Amino acid sequence: MELAKRFPNSKMVVIEKENELAHHQTGHNSGVIHSGIYYKPGSLKAQFARKGNKAMVHFCEEHGIPYEICGKVIVAAEEKELPIMEELYERGLQNGLDVKKIGPEELKEIEPHVKGIGAIRVPSCGIVDYRGVSAAFARLIQERGGDIRLGVRVENIVENMDHVTIETNRGTIQTRFLINCAGLHSDRMAKMAGMKTGMKIVPFRGEYYELVPEKRYLVNHLIYPVPNPDFPFLGVHFTRMMNGEVHAGPNAVLPLNVKDIRKKI
Ligand SMILES: Cc1cc2nc3c(=O)[nH]c(=O)nc-3n(C[C@H](O)[C@H](O)[C@H](O)COP(=O)(O)OP(=O)(O)OC[C@H]3O[C@@H](n4cnc5c(N)ncnc54)[C@H](O)[C@@H]3O)c2cc1C
Repeated sequence: MELAKRFPNSKMVVIEKENELAHHQTGHNSGVIHSGIYYKPGSLKAQFARKGNKAMVHFCEEHGIPYEICGKVIVAAEEKELPIMEELYERGLQNGLDVKKIGPEELKEIEPHVKGIGAIRVPSCGIVDYRGVSAAFARLIQERGGDIRLGVRVENIVENMDHVTIETNRGTIQTRFLINCAGLHSDRMAKMAGMKTGMKIVPFRGEYYELVPEKRYLVNHLIYPVPNPDFPFLGVHFTRMMNGEVHAGPNAVLPLNVKDIRKKI
């Protein structure tokens, strides 16, 4: 979308193997506009998350996409979580965020159904429907002359001196530049182009429960646990969604393909 804006005379094609946009992670995530509190202060990730938070809110305002800055609480349920909570709070401050430490009483006031011995309140977190965001990206790309092709799967990539040839299930495309944004397939895509990255993506699937509608009142903010430093995940959280639902999750399931399962059996 940004390239189509900066280079209005360029020709651009976006290739997606599915028959709709945002069919994978982008359309199935928690829908949270994160604040960047978790990331190492000064790191690119921390800067990127903070700028991204503002940019997303600005984008939604500009294009009439519903969003809500509902804020989040990271709750310590046990004594042993307090030092990690303290560390996170310091990170939040160093990342320039408007974070606040609150005690059990204040927590009870804003989240009456949450039991905790302390919490961090992060007001800049929000929610949005990323399918809606993707649809707006697609509309802008098309308005700026870009072409979006659905149901087109990249099967091979050949790099030549001055162009790249992309072989797909629906013919061949020649281009000067290729940007790989294939999500969990991006390692395979890089391999197709003959690159040796020394990396392999190990995918995890996230599964969620949904609160029954009569219990949605139990959750006012986004409610997160203090993350367990042994795992690279944020922990099971309660997320309010833009359509009013409240999700609890995700867990992290290593998806085994059929061949792996057969081997085990
Ligand atoms: C459970 C879970 C919860 C998350 N929650 C949040 C959250 O609350 N907030 C947040 O900011 N982030 C969240 N994330 C992270 C976020 O969803 C991802 O970082 C983001 O969606 C990645 O987008 P992407 O475009 O890189 O990948 P994807 O959305 O996976 O898109 C990649 C696309 O490439 C296509 N593709 C792959 N191979 C080919 C091929 N050979 N030919 C053509 N097309 C191909 C795929 O079909 C796919 O549509 C979450 C992630 C998970 C898994």
